[in-house]
Amino acid sequence: MESVAFEHIKSIGQRVLIIGVGNTAMDCCRTSRRLGGTDIKVMARRPREFFKASPWELEDAEEELIEIVVNHSPKRFVVEDGKLRGMEFERLEWSEDAKGRATSTVIDTVFIPADDVIVAIGQENAFPWIERDIGMEFDKSGMPIVDKVTFQSSVPGIFFGGDAAWGPKNIIWAVAHAHEAAISIHNHCQGLAVADRPASGMNLVTQKMGMYEWSYSNDYNPAHRAKMKHVDLRERFQKLSLEVELGFDVDQITREVERCLNCDIETSFKDKLCIECDACIDICPLQCLTITPNADEPALRPRLTVPAKNTEQALFVSGALPQTGRVMVKDEDLCVHCGLCAERCPTAAWDMEKFELILPHAGQKNGASRKTG
Ligand code: SF4
Ligand code: SF4
Repeated sequence: MESVAFEHIKSIGQRVLIIGVGNTAMDCCRTSRRLGGTDIKVMARRPREFFKASPWELEDAEEELIEIVVNHSPKRFVVEDGKLRGMEFERLEWSEDAKGRATSTVIDTVFIPADDVIVAIGQENAFPWIERDIGMEFDKSGMPIVDKVTFQSSVPGIFFGGDAAWGPKNIIWAVAHAHEAAISIHNHCQGLAVADRPASGMNLVTQKMGMYEWSYSNDYNPAHRAKMKHVDLRERFQKLSLEVELGFDVDQITREVERCLNCDIETSFKDKLCIECDACIDICPLQCLTITPNADEPALRPRLTVPAKNTEQALFVSGALPQTGRVMVKDEDLCVHCGLCAERCPTAAWDMEKFELILPHAGQKNGASRKTG
């Protein structure tokens, strides 16, 4: 992809095989189409539900007549007279073993002709350039041993973060690692202990502006994601740099923002104010609130107004309510943060509060953390 972007590669054979089914593989197949490929196949070892590519990336590739071939495991390149002729694949059948793990059986071997093959199966860390006599410890797979809190390796003053620390994660993790490592680097340069770190914190601020007014848009729209308009197929391949996705129009954007679940706006409950009028339970559109006598979780769950399907998600259970000693229980998994419970509550026992995570940063004094909404 880099070679195409820098124009080192300007063409490709007509028959192209892509090995891999992540989003990069989708970039490779669609770029091959733009470079002149006419018969492009994405070859996958496993069925479609195991693909790493986002469903919309697959749809976009198929719209451009890319063929997705499942259950074909690459076996070998076929080269004749120094020229690539194609690849051999083992056709697989998948089933589950006694422990529920997917296992494959080879049905036969097939040859698929190709002029070019692009291998898009991801990358791995490799640190052969770190001399092994500098005292740094590595694990069995050749990854440096890195402290999970300080990001320091076994050699003081050498820090790792992002994919280099513990293998592939996303860019958000890499940025978070960098912030943490920066605190350690600052401490190291100041002669302070790297484990001596400023505290993180959090804050909750009410969003109530009037009886029925909130400082956020609480009119949740359960509509599906809008389909973004794409450049017409006839024009799409004229220029390699042509951006296919045209973005949302104003009406779509207006609807899309209302799909936001406002995850930073939390329900908060003050049990001492509750008079057990049940108004919040009546109004909650997701039926995620229940007032009931308290009990252990297994006994409590079946008593919910609508018992939660996701039992991994912790329930919110209030303290004893003043009138009867029962408790308010909330299924956190269902809440859409609409604020109707807080609008309806006559005593303001429910409120909607904005959550702020306060993360420490390198060089700050304790208590001077930066807020992250
Ligand atoms: S915010 Fe809305 S969905 Fe969540 S508990 Fe209150 S009424 Fe129910
Ligand atoms: S509406 Fe308010 S007072 Fe009534 S049950 Fe709900 S939290 Fe309690």
